[in-house]
Amino acid sequence: MRYDEFHRWSIEDPEGFWAEQAKAIHWHKPPQHILDYSNPPFRKWFVGGETNLCHNAVDRHLDERGDQLALVGYSTETGSVRELSFRELHREVNAFASVLQSLGVGQGDRVVVYMPHTVDAAIAMLACARIGAIHSVVFGGFASLNLALRIDDAQPKVLVCADAGIRGGKVIAFKPLVDEALARAQHPPAHVLVVNRGLAGELPMQPGRDLAYGPLREAHADAQVPVVWLESNEPSYILYTSGTTGKPKGVQRDVGGYAVALALSMWSIYDVRAGQAFFSTSDIGWVVGHSYNVYGPLIAGATSILYEGLPTAPDPGIWWKICEQYGVRTMFSSPTAVRVLKKQDASWLKKHDLSKLQYLFLAGEPLDEPTAQWISESLGKTVIDNYWQTETGWPVLTLMPGVELKPVRLGSPGFPAPGYDVRVIDENTGEDAGVGEKGVLVLQPPLPPGCLSTVWNNDERFVASYFSHFREPLYSSLDWAIRDGDGYTFILGRTDDVINVAGHRLGTREIEESVSSHPGVAEAAVIGVQDAVKGQVPVVFATLKPLPGADADERETAAQMLQTVADQLGAVARPSRVYVVNALPKTRSGKLLRRSLQALAEARDPGDLSTLDDPNALEEVKRALARGPEAGS
Ligand code: ATP
Ligand code: MG
Repeated sequence: MRYDEFHRWSIEDPEGFWAEQAKAIHWHKPPQHILDYSNPPFRKWFVGGETNLCHNAVDRHLDERGDQLALVGYSTETGSVRELSFRELHREVNAFASVLQSLGVGQGDRVVVYMPHTVDAAIAMLACARIGAIHSVVFGGFASLNLALRIDDAQPKVLVCADAGIRGGKVIAFKPLVDEALARAQHPPAHVLVVNRGLAGELPMQPGRDLAYGPLREAHADAQVPVVWLESNEPSYILYTSGTTGKPKGVQRDVGGYAVALALSMWSIYDVRAGQAFFSTSDIGWVVGHSYNVYGPLIAGATSILYEGLPTAPDPGIWWKICEQYGVRTMFSSPTAVRVLKKQDASWLKKHDLSKLQYLFLAGEPLDEPTAQWISESLGKTVIDNYWQTETGWPVLTLMPGVELKPVRLGSPGFPAPGYDVRVIDENTGEDAGVGEKGVLVLQPPLPPGCLSTVWNNDERFVASYFSHFREPLYSSLDWAIRDGDGYTFILGRTDDVINVAGHRLGTREIEESVSSHPGVAEAAVIGVQDAVKGQVPVVFATLKPLPGADADERETAAQMLQTVADQLGAVARPSRVYVVNALPKTRSGKLLRRSLQALAEARDPGDLSTLDDPNALEEVKRALARGPEAGS
């Protein structure tokens, strides 16, 4: 079946399509109804069916591929590699599940997991799934305040943490952060389970509350914990969005719909099947980590590689070395990571045997054309842009090489994934935008399997945040998009990233693209800054590429950026100032914090900086503002 036919089937006959896809997973009890949409915009998939994520990810593979590698924890931080076969993983997950049960954790109870990107974190998640507990993974880089907020929202019975995370050789002790968060929280868990890798020395342990996992694991090593079969629509986990635009939302996922969507995506989008290897460079704390480091590849019977470390250490060839070693077929990363590699010598991409590698998927933020071009040429592989959200759990827009590989069009993530009825509509009229006309990307409900069921504990927020923007109850992505004559969709940025220059509405993303097309620019952030005359003016913060040989003149490059934008987008889009900086402020997930940049540029308080990755980047911006722009005035 060709892509068009496949997608059309999923939209015109959703029940038939998803009934067929549901066969890819194991059901303890088959679904009674494929779709219940009697209470829009809420919907239930595979009603009455009983299944379990852990069973599908682990137990189901024991007979056929028990000795095949399931998880590889590759850490260049600790200099260790941990390989687990499906059989070994099964044993570890049973032990962990048994320990959780001994602490009184059962079906529907929440467990917060605050750990670095390690195999242990995956084991903790799978153990929760096994006994029907709801995990809520909090990214290990978050400070105690973020952790406390999430604890109070999820109200867990147990918190699982590691002794420490480690980044660029620097050990960050987690236990003191946990203690601080628990002291702040209104609803602290009864127990803290500490998985100790021995990185942080002696740990402060509160008797009665805190337990070391190591000795408990020994005691429960031979435990056999039966899988708890869950109705398809029971919650499997809570995961908070990145918080780029405001207070994070607790995305709640189901069980059966998620498993079916992931199984479908593994073969049709990522073209990976049982026995092959998949390498996602994301972190367990993000949605990609959930879907494509843990559940997706394992449900497919593939080997999943978890990498803890920097993309450039011990050298910028490390990811390709891993690809060679494990025969990785499909790799998943982010534009930010590629931009880091782009600053290095391209010869690092040629040092290893990548004959098994077929695709590199990139997601999480706009993939600008120069970056896409650079990586596809340097790697000589198919590079596919993926557009999705924490809310959707799996791609919304993508190419689908497992079905039919349509030609890559730079700057576009391609076409709707199956089940997604994607529309681009005029923000004022709600009518479909024409070819080449900019509009808001919306999804015609019911949302496909795998997408969020609701916002945890807050059905009203689910409806208000996503379904109340238009007269019809459409799911709004809050992103701008445009479709070309061949049906390729382009993402133009977030709906709140629009600036108004003398009555002209400009997307900051378009200006960023234009600035980045200058060969000297590594990365650019564009924001709208208040202006007495024009309302707002575009202002650029850019990092430059180290040009080999000569030291490029920053002022000259900055002036050329202004000209590039004026040439490409017209004089009205010409930025009023360009600041050259060494780093841009980003969230931990690599998204530009335009909100804070704008506040600083308008001499306001930068607001909530709890998701900021590198504090130096902010200082760098402050210095640049104090020093004055490299171009413009
Ligand atoms: P919050 O919703 O809390 O503000 P967030 O939107 O940053 O946080 P995520 O769910 O991690 O949280 O990010 C999804 C968003 O990332 C998308 O809505 C879109 O703006 C952006 N994005 C993701 N992938 C792409 C892509 N391939 N191209 C362009 N933008 C993308
Ligand atoms: Mg969002």
